[in-house]
Amino acid sequence: MKTARTVAEMRALRGQLAGPVGFVPTMGFLHQGHLSLVDRARAENASVVVSIFVNPTQFGPREDYQTYPRDLQRDMAMLESSTDVLFLPDAPEMYPPGFNTWVEVAGITDRLEGASRPGHFRGVATVVAKLFNIVQPHRAYFGQKDAQQLAVIKKVVSDLNMPLEVIGLPTLREPDGLAMSSRNTYLNPEQRRAATVLYRALEMARQSRRSGERDASRLRAGMLALVQQEPQARVDYVSIADPNTLEELEEIDRPALASMAVWIGTTRLIDNTVLE
Ligand code: AMP
Repeated sequence: MKTARTVAEMRALRGQLAGPVGFVPTMGFLHQGHLSLVDRARAENASVVVSIFVNPTQFGPREDYQTYPRDLQRDMAMLESSTDVLFLPDAPEMYPPGFNTWVEVAGITDRLEGASRPGHFRGVATVVAKLFNIVQPHRAYFGQKDAQQLAVIKKVVSDLNMPLEVIGLPTLREPDGLAMSSRNTYLNPEQRRAATVLYRALEMARQSRRSGERDASRLRAGMLALVQQEPQARVDYVSIADPNTLEELEEIDRPALASMAVWIGTTRLIDNTVLE
C-alpha cells in the first residue's frame, strides 16, 4: 500500500494504477462496514484507492469535528492487504486559502439530515466532487447506512456528468443490530445498550409493514413511541419517505425508506432500512 498526502502525489500514483480503479472515501476510524466497501472494490476492480479525510466543511459549528475519532496507525493496518493507494490529505491541502467553489444539490438536501444539519450536504457534495476529480475512479463505493448521502452523491454524479459508477452497499451491523459507525466509540456501556433502540424501531417498522400496514403516519408514530420508551434516547426525526425524493409518504404504496436520527446522550446516531 502506498500513501499520498498531497493532490500532486495522489495524481502521480493514480497514473501508475491499472484500471478499472475502485474508490472508497472515508473519514477513518475504520470498522468492518468500511472494510466491506473496500472488499467489494477489490473484487470488482484492478486497483483500489481509499481516502481518509475528516472533512471540516461537512460538520456544523456545534458538531464533533475536533473530537471525531482518529487512529491512523490502526486504519493503515486494516487497509494494508487490500488497498493500493491510501490518500491522506490534510484540510489545507483540500481547502487552500481562497477556496471558494461549492457543490449544492437542491431539493433532496432540504429534508432529514439536511434539515437537521444545515450545510452538511454542501460539504459532502463538495468534498466528494473534489475527491472524484483527484482520484478519477471508475467506480466509487458508499454505504446505505448514509442513505441520503448516497442519494445526494448519485445526483451530483448524474447532474454533473461525472464519468464513474456510484455503488451503494448494505449496512453492516453488530450482532445486536446496532449499525457499525465510527461514532459508536462515543457511547458508554449503558448508552451502547440503549443504542439498539434504533434497530429495534426499524425492525418493528419492517414487521408492521410485512403484516400489511400501509399508513405511514401510523408507522412513524409506532417507531417514535418505541424510541421514546428508551430513557437514554432523544428523537431528532423518524421518517417514512420515498427512497428517491426523500419526501414523506402518507400511504406506503411503493418501497419506502424508513430512517431515523436519535441522540443517545451527546452522540447522534442514524440508521435506516428499506421497507419493500
Ligand atoms: P464515514 O467514514 O462514516 O464517512 O463512512 C465512509 C463510508 O462507509 C460511507 O460510504 C458510509 O456510508 C460507509 N459506512 C459507514 N458505516 C457503514 C456500515 N455500518 N456498513 C456499511 N457501510 C458503512
